[in-house]
Amino acid sequence: MSFNLATILRESRRAHPDKPLCHLGELSLDYRQVDELSGRIAAGLRGLGLRPGDRVAVQLPNIPQFLFAYFGILKAGLIMVPLNPLLRAPEIAYHLTDSGARLLVTFETFAEEAVKAAAEVKTYVVNTPGSDARPAGTLSFDELYGADDETIAPANADDTAVLLYTSGTTGRPKGAELTHFQLYMNCTVAGELFGFRPDDVGLAVLPLFHVFGLSSVLNVAVRFGGTISLVPRFEIGPVLDALERHRCTVFTGVPTMYFAMLRADTAGRDLSALRVGVSGGAAIPGEVLRAFEDKFPGVVILEGYGLSETASTATFNVSAEQRRIASIGRPVWGVETLVVDEDGRPLPPGPEHVGEIVVRGHNVMKGYWNRPQATAEALRDGWFHTGDLAYADEDGYLFVVDRKKDLIVRGGYNVYPREVEEVLYTHPAVAEAAVIGRPDERLGEEVVACVALRPGAAATAEEVTAFCRERLASYKCPREVRFLDALPVGPTGKILKKELRA
Ligand code: AMP
Repeated sequence: MSFNLATILRESRRAHPDKPLCHLGELSLDYRQVDELSGRIAAGLRGLGLRPGDRVAVQLPNIPQFLFAYFGILKAGLIMVPLNPLLRAPEIAYHLTDSGARLLVTFETFAEEAVKAAAEVKTYVVNTPGSDARPAGTLSFDELYGADDETIAPANADDTAVLLYTSGTTGRPKGAELTHFQLYMNCTVAGELFGFRPDDVGLAVLPLFHVFGLSSVLNVAVRFGGTISLVPRFEIGPVLDALERHRCTVFTGVPTMYFAMLRADTAGRDLSALRVGVSGGAAIPGEVLRAFEDKFPGVVILEGYGLSETASTATFNVSAEQRRIASIGRPVWGVETLVVDEDGRPLPPGPEHVGEIVVRGHNVMKGYWNRPQATAEALRDGWFHTGDLAYADEDGYLFVVDRKKDLIVRGGYNVYPREVEEVLYTHPAVAEAAVIGRPDERLGEEVVACVALRPGAAATAEEVTAFCRERLASYKCPREVRFLDALPVGPTGKILKKELRA
């Protein structure tokens, strides 16, 4: 079957060429413009002699050129390798070598770092408006534009479209190979479930180089002919400006973004267009979800779950009526999940039967690029092993208790950090919390809570521990409480437990 993912752009352009596809501050680009400019990038790439299947790395923040490069690469039948702009030179070098990328598109601010890494790779730099500063030896992104070209290369549906680098459950970053068909199916199914409509305006603050932003924000909007409001990095001021100015209706984010919205002063802002919040990437504490809905009446938050390897959404809570708070919902259309024990045997429902989530369906990656062994470990009998621990209820709703690698084993007892965090979030002085394990000679591991307090609030370690003791079995209670101004977060806004442990 021949199918190229870039068709989603062409189809929506046919339906309404003059409709804005993306906004960035005062700038707006319609479907025709994005289709044409990405067609010219495709022509430029072909002109350089790149051939179907070649990899092109793109290291850009959420700006329109990301869209031109992405759809241009797809239209030329090439493979897109999105990279985090904040990678340092050795990391960039690793990703370029591992993927065998022949070309790199980067942004002015990161270009110095990129060229240190990309000596062998032709590098094109996107400049900020009015600037043409570039390191020696690099080319301007403008030079990549070829002539007008409407061609969309006929890809096989199971050709790889995107290599998404992820650490997976173990080891160094690996490229999850996602095909044209998988990405198409995922945005189609997820968009339906989000209730995404052509008149929706989605906030695009999740990085587009990550699966959640790429598939659940960008692809969903283009597939359904909607609009996105690009915000290059998560800062509350610009986010509120974008929500208000572009009358965003859909807020897709990770829990830390919901915390920030809760803390923000929104008096005098008109955010009344907002109607749905999609949360994923990490568990959203029930307290945060409810408080958000109280603060922004009319908004319903729907939580989903997925990974880079599942082309974004694998499970979802489809509506306010059907959702179960604290659950990641049920598998989406065409996707199956099981909760299995150490030997891969399916477990019955019930909170006492915690096991690993495995996933099968149209959204599961082909494998890890050039990593047959890691692929064989992750994909067994057609089931993708997620490394996430969960249980199912009688109706098939899944409840993630934690990531396998975050599980704390204290004196032989399993402590799921998530459970302790849920309690900490109900403490009136706590703004953010993360629970980690610390090596302990006697017990193997000891439970440590890292906490950021609300502005102006006060609490002592003893008080926080006592609060937990009233609500949790003693072995789960943190023996140490560390107070931080803010918890460290990664590029998507997920709390970085690895850093806290270090
Ligand atoms: P990534 O591949 O970067 O998207 O990370 C995927 C991981 O994010 C999963 O394996 C989960 O550990 C975590 N995750 C995603 N969504 C949720 C959720 N709703 N609740 C809990 N963890 C989640």
